[in-house]
Amino acid sequence: MPIDATQPYDDQNIFAKILRGEIPNRTVYEDEWALAFHDINPQAPDHVLVIPKGAYVCWDDFSAKASDAEIAGFTRAVGHVARELGLVEPGYRLLANTGFDAHQEVPHLHVHIFGGKPLGPMLVR
Ligand code: 5GP
Repeated sequence: MPIDATQPYDDQNIFAKILRGEIPNRTVYEDEWALAFHDINPQAPDHVLVIPKGAYVCWDDFSAKASDAEIAGFTRAVGHVARELGLVEPGYRLLANTGFDAHQEVPHLHVHIFGGKPLGPMLVR
């Protein structure tokens, strides 16, 4: 079920549980600002999720309320992970689904990193 991007943060969401170590994940990278782990249901040969350590529902919440340090730290982490995965030269795609129309399912901001094959057109019409 897609989530409402304007809802308050729910600390029982699955990614909050992953951040607290209550649910296992295949970690790719972690620092003060972000955790990156393999998506449980990969849509490309490389499909990694990067989430901020802070409690933000979605991109709107994060971009409006996060500190400059959080935004910088998170953005640098996304770039670092893509670089470490060797995806810069072949290319990759970032995606941050936000709310109903984008079909965001987990109410903790996550950026998808897709790569490892030609990804085709941006959206299926
Ligand atoms: P959304 O549609 O919200 O942008 O994407 C949510 C993503 O989270 C999906 O790609 C889904 O496969 C992934 N996901 C959902 N639950 C889990 C989980 O427990 N572990 C991991 N690693 N990924 C999850």
